[in-house]
Amino acid sequence: MKTHPPISAQQALNIILQSAKPIGVETLALRSSHQRVIAEDLISKEDIPPFDNSSMDGFALRSSDTTMAAEHARIELTVLGESAAGDVPRTAVQPSAAIRIMTGAPIPPGADTVLEQELVSIRNGNISVSAPVIVGRNIRRRGEDIRAGDIVLRKGTMIGAAQLGVLSSLGVMDVSVFRMPSVAILATGNELTESSNLRPGEIRNSNSSTLWALVKSAHCHPTDLGAAPDEIEVLRSRITDGLRYDVLITTGGVSVGKYDFVLDVWKDLGVEMKFWKVNIKPGMPLAFGVYTKEDSRTLVFALPGNPVSSYVTFLQFVRPALRVIQGDANPRKATRLTATLEHEIKKRDGKRHFIRGIVRNEGGAFIVRTTGSQSSGVLTSLTLANCLILVPEEKSDLSAGESVDVELLPE
Ligand code: AMP
Ligand code: MG
Repeated sequence: MKTHPPISAQQALNIILQSAKPIGVETLALRSSHQRVIAEDLISKEDIPPFDNSSMDGFALRSSDTTMAAEHARIELTVLGESAAGDVPRTAVQPSAAIRIMTGAPIPPGADTVLEQELVSIRNGNISVSAPVIVGRNIRRRGEDIRAGDIVLRKGTMIGAAQLGVLSSLGVMDVSVFRMPSVAILATGNELTESSNLRPGEIRNSNSSTLWALVKSAHCHPTDLGAAPDEIEVLRSRITDGLRYDVLITTGGVSVGKYDFVLDVWKDLGVEMKFWKVNIKPGMPLAFGVYTKEDSRTLVFALPGNPVSSYVTFLQFVRPALRVIQGDANPRKATRLTATLEHEIKKRDGKRHFIRGIVRNEGGAFIVRTTGSQSSGVLTSLTLANCLILVPEEKSDLSAGESVDVELLPE
């Protein structure tokens, strides 16, 4: 078999991101747009807040009345009434008067400042003030948060809880968002079963569940196509099914074993292979291709079967592609931090390594150690890990105390 040199992780990701495109736009009711990506800049038609209002419970008054106030020369103001949140205050604040005001209530006409309740003494319906109150104290100005005409959310922003709140505050009912990618998952391998009784030689298919969850946490729609044996005819038919989705992920059967047929089937079906093998550990046999039919395209990922390999390669290569398809303007984002390595790590090759790690904060500094055995079959170690330690290609052995980059794992 002819040798096939691996490409770098960086090249692989570039190729994937160039091949991925958003798949269209739809309009959804506000709350249905949660965890979708907004498809156009959102421009406010209104000022938020819509009126000057108080940020404290206290008294609205005229700053000029308090200019001479001092501890030994307190100024008395007559309280004329009150303004609660939701009120429309009509009484104007006259000289030497004040209006009791609650947080969020409109500033009454005539008043130009609010003195918080805690700083006032109240006696016989009057208040006394012991220091000057500057103009604008405790007032949230109209338009202070958002001005009419401002771009509030940029196209390509994921709508999380805070964005949903902003949309609500603007009275938006329908939101234009990118379509949610459909992702098919197909496990391959003669040894795979879902049954409770394992027969000799069988193992349970764990990849389909892990990938299903990863696709969900990437806010895409997973469809589990089950497990297929290593038989060309069966694989052809199951992969054909998978090519009807926006993305098809297979696991297993992509190395150089005698029964690794996935890439042969790609060729038969007209999937254009963009690369096969990436200079990484774990996950080297990863392959990526594009299937185009009329005006639709499917991105096809053949992930290695090892559970840890498929997990890591999903996060590093599939998830960024899903973000592009979702319209996310920032597909490479990852939560990365720099941590101090607690013990040495041996590395004797020129691959980029993704090492399962446990990072913790100790007195403000991040310290990381590995989960132990890095065999790519050890799925339980992923349940202990909260990060991947990223070791670049050119690095060899790492010593205790070195700084390393770590990438936090999704929940
Ligand atoms: P392969 O990539 O097909 O050579 O598989 C590599 C290793 O991963 C083998 O030990 C397989 O038994 C194991 N494996 C493959 N697919 C799965 C799966 N869906 N769930 C759990 N282990 C798997
Ligand atoms: Mg296999």
